[in-house]
Amino acid sequence: MIDIGSNLASKAFREDLDTVLRHARRTNVTAIVATGTSESVSRAVLEIAREKSYGDGPRIFSTAGIHPHHAKDFSRSSADALRAMACNPEVRAIGECGLDFDRNFSPRDAQLRCFDAQLELAADLAMPVFLHERAAEDDFSAVLSRFRPRLTRAVVHCFTGTGETLARYLDLDLHIGITGWICDERRGTHLVELVRRIPSDRMMIETDAPYILPRSMPRAERPRTGRNEPRFLRWVLKAVAEARGEAEADLERATVATTNAFFDLPADA
Ligand SMILES: [Zn+2]
Repeated sequence: MIDIGSNLASKAFREDLDTVLRHARRTNVTAIVATGTSESVSRAVLEIAREKSYGDGPRIFSTAGIHPHHAKDFSRSSADALRAMACNPEVRAIGECGLDFDRNFSPRDAQLRCFDAQLELAADLAMPVFLHERAAEDDFSAVLSRFRPRLTRAVVHCFTGTGETLARYLDLDLHIGITGWICDERRGTHLVELVRRIPSDRMMIETDAPYILPRSMPRAERPRTGRNEPRFLRWVLKAVAEARGEAEADLERATVATTNAFFDLPADA
């Protein structure tokens, strides 16, 4: 399996990242794309991809981008820094970028400017984009419609939206990332029906660790801290396979093939 979204530079992994990675490999996670969410975090995940890829863990890649929460800190110099980072072979996408009108940690106009600049960069470098959207589907779709012809590939990570939104995103030829949200019996049950509508060459899976621990895990297996890890990706795979009525092994093969193509991962990954 490949985890397309894991926040490996999070404080939550500072103490035991090597163990976390070893456990991931043992549960068949062969590669991880570590998410960059700010200039410094993008630098940190690139560092992790460089240093940790050759141990007994999964192969690690990274993204370089600025999350909408941090859009207010975006400047010309951060755009230049992202561009420089993106030239490293470990960096496989621009992002995480997008719009979050749910929490509005940055003003909306700052989010729109920051999003625009990163799509411009992705178009310029012909790199795929790793996207975040919360409560902003109208503006998000409008911005993407404008850029879509110039973008190679784009994935809406941690999709949690409605059927209508999903249809819009598939029409925009976006890929869809599914997390353990689908395992949440309180707020994710709508996804059980919706994942059947995603063509297999458009769907990828992710943990978004340390967040979104799959609630379908048996209580005894759930870490007391509630910390999610890449090794729990199999619970996402299981939930999606059940929802689609597919064998886990088939779904695993399909998502790995889709992910390899999306991020253009080297053949030895
Ligand atoms: Zn996100």
